Amino acid sequence: MIRATKKEKIHLSTPHLSGSELEFVREAFDTNWVAPVGPHLEAFEREASNFLGVKEAVALNSGTSAIHLALALLGVKRGDTVFCSTLTFIASANPILYQGAEPVFIDSEPDTWNMSPAALKKALEDAGQKGKLPKAVIVVHLYGQSAKMDEILCLCNQYDIPVIEDAAESLGSRYKQKPSGTMGKLGIFSFNGNKIITTSGGGMLVSNDAEAIRKAKFLATQAKDPAPYYQHSCLGFNYRMSNVLAGIGRAQLKVLKERVSARRDIFSSYLRELSFIPGIEFMPELEGTFSNRWLTAMLLDEKQTGISSSTLMRLLAEANIEARPVWKPLHLQPLFEGTLFYSHEEMNVSEYLFRNGLCLPSGSNMKGENFMRVIQFIKKALKVKV
Ligand SMILES: *Cc1c(COP(=O)(O)O)cnc(C)c1O
Repeated sequence: MIRATKKEKIHLSTPHLSGSELEFVREAFDTNWVAPVGPHLEAFEREASNFLGVKEAVALNSGTSAIHLALALLGVKRGDTVFCSTLTFIASANPILYQGAEPVFIDSEPDTWNMSPAALKKALEDAGQKGKLPKAVIVVHLYGQSAKMDEILCLCNQYDIPVIEDAAESLGSRYKQKPSGTMGKLGIFSFNGNKIITTSGGGMLVSNDAEAIRKAKFLATQAKDPAPYYQHSCLGFNYRMSNVLAGIGRAQLKVLKERVSARRDIFSSYLRELSFIPGIEFMPELEGTFSNRWLTAMLLDEKQTGISSSTLMRLLAEANIEARPVWKPLHLQPLFEGTLFYSHEEMNVSEYLFRNGLCLPSGSNMKGENFMRVIQFIKKALKVKV
């Protein structure tokens, strides 16, 4: 039987190893540090905090647990509210529910696709009037693009509300020279397999407040009291990263800069090849910021392109090319039905971005010929003369 050979699958984003990961892992094996603590773990935390220019870091088993610990550290409990960007992955907000608290979702604004300072201002004013200010604000830096941190921090400082930066997607990005994840009271990163660097699975919580990170380490390892037997006075978690995975992280951190420049090159190539097409627009990069361009995201105006983002995604899938919609806003998720949401002025920016946005294959190890296959396919689908 003769079958048409299916072309190689092009993924959205896959792990990109440097080759030196195994040396670190072997070292952990050779020294028998196959434990949830050990020298790689401490070194990974030190190297990451040096890279970020932040005082302290704690390596954890996921970005989600980093957000959960951040909320626990800030004393978020049942009945509290926490504000959160609406245009993000569910993991940004699930820990709010873990703590029994209630989220309030804040819309995006057009310049960054991230938290709208105007919507945040309105939400804070309303909450102030009701006497129910949030315990924390979770700001996401989507696809590597920084949110408008000056405006957001200024608003939150007025009300004395701590900011958690969800920098899961923005390791290596900068906002006015400041590394993403280091501007709020606490910052979190993810090393999941699809992120810009990976430990297969993992996360990190960082802060300039050394006491907060000391407490995070305590909570992340079952909150053991300093007693000669097992004694516990407060609720803890089992959230620490293992020493073996931290070894992978050390090798990955060494190539982060290269990974960022590869992703930025991919973005520039998409821009060069596709931005002339009427009705196509790319995620902006706010002046004074530097995005790691984790994923290249574009918008299609169906009236001009003649094809919707969802149709293009389906066609790409048929050609074995993986594209994904922009995150479905959390205020539209069935899980969060009935949750309070503040839109950006008279617009609903996040819903527009969700309906018209598409993330394109952006892996730093994507082959040039595969990149050209994506470009040619999109041009063909959009009936662009090439
Ligand atoms: C990936 C991601 C997370 C969660 O990280 P995990 O390590 O997968 O738990 C949180 N927030 C955002 C925005 C993410 O993209």
